[in-house]
Amino acid sequence: MKAHTIPSTLYICEICNNAENNKTYTIEEKMYRTGDSFIYFKCAKCGCLQISEIPSDVAKFYDSSSYYSLQPKNKSRNLVIIRDWLKKQLFSYYLENKNIIGFVLKKIYNDPYYWFPKKKLNFNSRILDVGCGSGGLLRQMAEGGFKNLYGIDPFLKNNLQYKTAKGVIVNIDKKHLSEIDQKYDFIMLHHVFEHMSNPHDVIENLKKIMSEDAKLLIRIPTVDGYFWRKYKLNWFQIDAPRHFFLHSLESIRYILQTHGLKIENLLYDGIWSTFYLSEKYQRGLSMLSDDYSCTKEEKKTYQKKIKHLNLQGDSDQLCLLISKI
Ligand SMILES: [Zn+2]
Repeated sequence: MKAHTIPSTLYICEICNNAENNKTYTIEEKMYRTGDSFIYFKCAKCGCLQISEIPSDVAKFYDSSSYYSLQPKNKSRNLVIIRDWLKKQLFSYYLENKNIIGFVLKKIYNDPYYWFPKKKLNFNSRILDVGCGSGGLLRQMAEGGFKNLYGIDPFLKNNLQYKTAKGVIVNIDKKHLSEIDQKYDFIMLHHVFEHMSNPHDVIENLKKIMSEDAKLLIRIPTVDGYFWRKYKLNWFQIDAPRHFFLHSLESIRYILQTHGLKIENLLYDGIWSTFYLSEKYQRGLSMLSDDYSCTKEEKKTYQKKIKHLNLQGDSDQLCLLISKI
């Protein structure tokens, strides 16, 4: 008797349209261990691992209580002025590579904005953070001297506004990307793109609002690499069903090219804790479980290993700086 197999044509790659030989996987929700599971498939052509169907109730898999809290801290005005001045030195370094104080701060803080496009922007550049949450990063940037900042996030409860000591206002609105029609010089998506449905529409919308010389930053998990090979379905970054698309380098290149965009620069920026969290999942634990913690030695080993994987281009996070072709 013939075994029941689901025809592979049911699973058509949303990135490249390939329907042949796509391999399916049943993947459980592991962050909270809700007991739900989801079918993902990996495209045999472009390599993108993707959810077969976006759950209609996906919002229930987000813990909204812990998201998006922004408590302004009470600090004396003088301290705030000094702090913001130091931030400005740091960002000046990222903008021009010249500022000595900024260079020292960068060393001390271990290159906190390593993803920043060097020598491409200035303090007046129009900057958009897509999926910015409560806008913590934009707040940092406003305090550091950037004047034209805007953030959107459709999952916000309300619009937010932040004002720096120097009177610069940052608006953060509850909005979808498709509602934006102004142009920007720098658009950033920090671990957001993998949560968005209709990736071709997203890329097209992003391109539409890029100014002629704009830079687009997309930071995503990537399936090409050590973690998928070692941990497979227990790889922490699959994060079913919240991550809809886990791109390969080939699939992200393909989708960008289709819309007239190219990767100008890329680096791998995986973090050591992915080892620890994937180990937890491998033991059948939830992300928040206390039943497994890694030793200091293990942490050191993971830190060393992730550094190596990042340099080899074999870790699980990609940081892409993109421009128009
Ligand atoms: Zn594909």
